Formats: sequence, C-alpha cells, structure tokens
Amino acid sequence: MLGAFPSVDPLGRRLIVVLQGFPCSWGRCSFCPFYLEQSASLRDILERNRSIVARAIELAREIRADRVTVFNGGSFFELPLAVIEMLKPLTRGRILDIESRPEFLSVSSVSTVLRILEPSRLVVRVGLEVFDERIRNEVLGKGIPQSEILRLSKLREDLRAIGSPVEVVAYVLFGIEGVPESEVVRSVREFNKLFDGVIAIRYRRYLPSHPSEAGVSDELRSFLERSCMYVDWGEGEEWSIGSSK
Ligand code: SF4
Repeated sequence: MLGAFPSVDPLGRRLIVVLQGFPCSWGRCSFCPFYLEQSASLRDILERNRSIVARAIELAREIRADRVTVFNGGSFFELPLAVIEMLKPLTRGRILDIESRPEFLSVSSVSTVLRILEPSRLVVRVGLEVFDERIRNEVLGKGIPQSEILRLSKLREDLRAIGSPVEVVAYVLFGIEGVPESEVVRSVREFNKLFDGVIAIRYRRYLPSHPSEAGVSDELRSFLERSCMYVDWGEGEEWSIGSSK
C-alpha cells in the first residue's frame, strides 16, 4: 500500500515509506505484484509522492524515527530525480534503506544518493532472493547472473575502502514454490558471507498467475530468526498491495 507506516522492530524506530514509481524496468520476476501500484504518468507520480512525503516528514518527527525505509516497487534509481530530492528533509541524518537491482549500483550512483540525501548511513537492499543461479533465474525470473553477485560484493568492499557509510544487504525469499528450504538456508549462509546481512521475506501470493505459497517449517523459522538481520513475515500494512487508482 502506498503511504508512510511507522514501525518499531529489530531494525529500529523507523518509518516505512512506500512511494509510487514507474513500472520496474525489468518487470519479469515470476512473483512480483508491485506493478499494481505503479504509474506511467510523471504527473501522477509527482503529485502522489508529494503528499506521501509531506505526511512522512510529519510522522517521522512525531515518532522520532531514526531510520527511514523507502520502497518504490522497483529500483530507487528509477524514481524521478524530483522525487528523490523531495526526500531530503526525511533522510538527512537518519539511516536510509533503499532497494535496487544490481545493475543500477556503482560507486558513482551510490555516492550520488549520499550526496543528495545526506543520510547517516545508506543501506542498499538487493532482491537476490536465492543463491542458486538456476533457481534464481529460471524459476523466479530474476535475470541476475552469479557474476553480478560477485561484482556487488566487490562494490561493497570498494565503498568501504573509500569510507562510504554504505551497507549492502541481500533479500532472501522463502515460503515460495520452487525454492526448497535447503536452498533458503544455503542462500542465507552464502549471502551473509558476501554482504552486510540478509533480510528474509515471506512470500505472499497476490495473483493467480503467481507461484503458490509453500509452508514454512519450524526449523526454517528458527534458523531465519537466528541468522538474518530481519525476517519480514509480510504482515505489515505496507504489504496490502493493490491498485494505485
Ligand atoms: S526486480 Fe523487483 S520490482 Fe522488478 S520485477 Fe523483479 S521483484 Fe518486481
């Protein structure tokens, strides 16, 4: 759901801000519902986001948020620059989470976000979903080769070497048909070695054409709670994804 949602959870006292974006330029992941909230109209996007950001600024002050998590149903770098610039009063001096596909990430693009938004720390979340390349690309349709994962890990080291306050965190998707629990466990272990941490996301099926949900064993549940920086069970208001109209 588009809007601003306060949350107190293992990531801190934060505001989750769901903006309207353009449709994701990849748009081929088998499970993705985010296009339901997006628009192809720049005017609509500017208007809608202006009111969401205004409300978010008020809320962040009210709850004394120390962290802001921004979603736009695609990569942060696909937002119009005018929308990114609107966020500055919200992000300056706070921890900022953004999401991006790997192909938008470089020292230059990440440094630009730091320069414009001046967060105390920038956490870039990347939807890698599963470590196994075949499952990731043939089953989930992610279009992310293993070489990109290694490049991202190296990028994280390069940013650290120049003193950038940037972390790279991998999403792992679980509870989805086609990704066995053993692969979820392997993914968390491998991504924890390559990145600053893992956020596990419980898959929710939004459309009949999407893969089925799979059960989650108690063993997996307790492994994820122990091994991930955060487990998102998909129960927050922001997960009510529907038409933007
Ligand atoms: S990259 Fe993200 S937003 Fe784009 S289609 Fe895949 S899941 Fe959806």
